[in-house]
Amino acid sequence: MAADLDMNEIHWLMDMFNTVDVGLVVLDREYKVCVWNGFMENHSGLLPSAVKNKDLFDLFPAIDEKWFRSKSEPVFVLKNRSFTIWEQQPYIFRFKNYRPITGKAEYMYQNATFIPLTNIRAEVSHICIILYDVTDIAVNKKELEELNKRLEQVSQTDGLTTLYNRGYWESMLKQEYLRTKRNAGCSSLLMFDIDHFKKVNDKHGHSCGDEALRHIAKLLRTTLRETDIAGRYGGEEFVLTLLDTDKQGAEIFAERLRVLIESSPAFYKNVEIKMTISIGVACFSNEFKDHERWIEAADRALYFSKNNGRNKVTVFDDIKNDA
Ligand code: GH3
Ligand code: MG
Ligand code: MG
Repeated sequence: MAADLDMNEIHWLMDMFNTVDVGLVVLDREYKVCVWNGFMENHSGLLPSAVKNKDLFDLFPAIDEKWFRSKSEPVFVLKNRSFTIWEQQPYIFRFKNYRPITGKAEYMYQNATFIPLTNIRAEVSHICIILYDVTDIAVNKKELEELNKRLEQVSQTDGLTTLYNRGYWESMLKQEYLRTKRNAGCSSLLMFDIDHFKKVNDKHGHSCGDEALRHIAKLLRTTLRETDIAGRYGGEEFVLTLLDTDKQGAEIFAERLRVLIESSPAFYKNVEIKMTISIGVACFSNEFKDHERWIEAADRALYFSKNNGRNKVTVFDDIKNDA
């Protein structure tokens, strides 16, 4: 009777061993496969008889042997458990991912636990690797990370022009203000506003106005250096921080931009939209007690351009003593 029960238990154990939804692999001291359960068979396509007593690294050349041994040796020698997680190494065994919901992942992400198996003399003669399919978790986490990245981007950019929005651009300017002040540097701030833009909307409609704004943003982008920071400050007002650029450099840049926009009309439904801009330039000065004063200076120069005929560049330094 007792023997029957034992036989039943072994039978059940074998059933469970082969149907459980984790991989179970036993390796000996030479990294030869001794045990290979149903999970491993199903995902690798290799029967236990095909892998038994074979060298693991011959069977799976894609396994990073050095890394795998560094995980296994402490288990043999110190009788400690060890773990691998997908964030460090996406998988040990390169199994295809067949899950319908997380079908976006090409391979099965895996976590694994390595446990020591002792013989009757309490020596670790073998190790068991328990392999978990964590594809669902990994894909969810990656999607969440991706989503967060996109959200961050959206919160920083202006939807129409994809330039930085005012809030984010201003936070960048604040950093640049502090950096320039610390290093006694010479960055410049440029602010411009499209002349008589209301007429574009009135004459051609709001969608045309939107297209014109996108066109200006595109032109602006073509003139930038990698370190320059461009933003949409308001409706048809744009701002640009020119890093490590002094008065002379900023003035040349502003004039080039003014001419470029004047000579590069936008097109909307085959209608040509000519535009000009008025520009204000303010070079960094220790007299600005914060970055907001810097913006105010560029704004004052811009309105000087507006009041003096438009389609012009004005540098704050040249007018600051005017009433
Ligand atoms: P000025 O030369 O003095 O700058 O004249 P202006 O007509 O450009 O100035 P004003 O401030 O009177 O008008 C700005 C116009 O810009 C009014 C507004 O309808 C338009 N505008 C602002 N934001 C947008 C936008 O996102 N899309 C469109 N299509 N128009 C916009
Ligand atoms: Mg305007
Ligand atoms: Mg305006």
